[in-house]
Amino acid sequence: MVHIETRLGDITTMNVDAIVNAANEELMCGGGVCGAIYRAAGAEKLRKACRAIGHCDTGDAVITDGFDLPADYIIHTVGPVWFGGERDEAKLLASSYRRSLEVAKEKGLKTVAFPSISTGIFGYPTESAAATAVAAVRDFLKDDEEMTVIWVLFDEQTKRIYDAALGEEA
Ligand code: ADP
Repeated sequence: MVHIETRLGDITTMNVDAIVNAANEELMCGGGVCGAIYRAAGAEKLRKACRAIGHCDTGDAVITDGFDLPADYIIHTVGPVWFGGERDEAKLLASSYRRSLEVAKEKGLKTVAFPSISTGIFGYPTESAAATAVAAVRDFLKDDEEMTVIWVLFDEQTKRIYDAALGEEA
């Protein structure tokens, strides 16, 4: 069964098959959710795994072990930096979600937790990011019978926006 839900909380505590990291193209440890994931997974081990992969294009996703996390894997996706909407940001954000789920599916993973990709340091307005994210995930899951997607959102305002996007799209 396909299931989508939102939760308020810290994505690093999620006991799921994979959590998704809002990464950068260099796969380097940054601030925000990326910094929290590095700390919780074991920074040295994750840094080594990311260095071995080396690079991820914007809109693409790669996978590493989850190391010390409760989650088995980390899917690293690079969402777009917001430049006002004129640089294919929506297409790239949708691609980040789609590629993350493709990578999960290739590994046979069934439960995937996402943060709000691109809406922190990358500056994407949360309302439009949520609308694009929900549409992209629903589109991917329409042919898949068995996947659970959980948005783990760090503050109530962001959670309200994703809940509204899920309500409107339903
Ligand atoms: P980006 O660079 O893609 O914009 P950020 O990490 O700056 O990514 O922010 C993405 C979202 O993740 C923001 O809404 C931020 O509040 C949230 N966030 C930060 N830490 C965590 C965490 N531990 N768990 C879940 N979400 C988090």
